[in-house]
Amino acid sequence: MNIFFYTIIFIMGITFGSFYTLAVYRIPKGEDITHTHSYCPNCKHKLNVLDLIPVFSYIFLGGKCRYCKQKIRPRYLILEVISGIFFMLVAYLLELNIYNLHIASIINYAFIILFFTFFVLLIGIAKETKKMNKPVIIYGVIVLIMYIVYLYIIKK
Ligand SMILES: [Zn+2]
Repeated sequence: MNIFFYTIIFIMGITFGSFYTLAVYRIPKGEDITHTHSYCPNCKHKLNVLDLIPVFSYIFLGGKCRYCKQKIRPRYLILEVISGIFFMLVAYLLELNIYNLHIASIINYAFIILFFTFFVLLIGIAKETKKMNKPVIIYGVIVLIMYIVYLYIIKK
């Protein structure tokens, strides 16, 4: 049962990883990260569902765009896999499993993921543009404040 649980966590992780690669690419350009369709950065061809499966699309397409055959940078794949492993590792360390889903552990888990998202986006965008991204920093500050408020609430 736990293998099933960790598989779901891993899939969630690589899905977030896929979102990170998109966000790192789009945020500095001021592009929408939620609504507009994903497209190939080279040929601008709109990507369909089969092109967007984290990790698997990369492997099945041989690391190339289906339409223009431009090589997709392996760092996308690496980030997806790292995210998947990180999500599983944190779940393991917090002893999250099907039989042990306490609300406190879930909230802790959620905060660790939110902070992880912050660091990935901050470092990822800084690597791409050599600049710290202001909206990402604001996001980090908000998560931090939320966490402090949460700690305050549970202390009482
Ligand atoms: Zn392309």
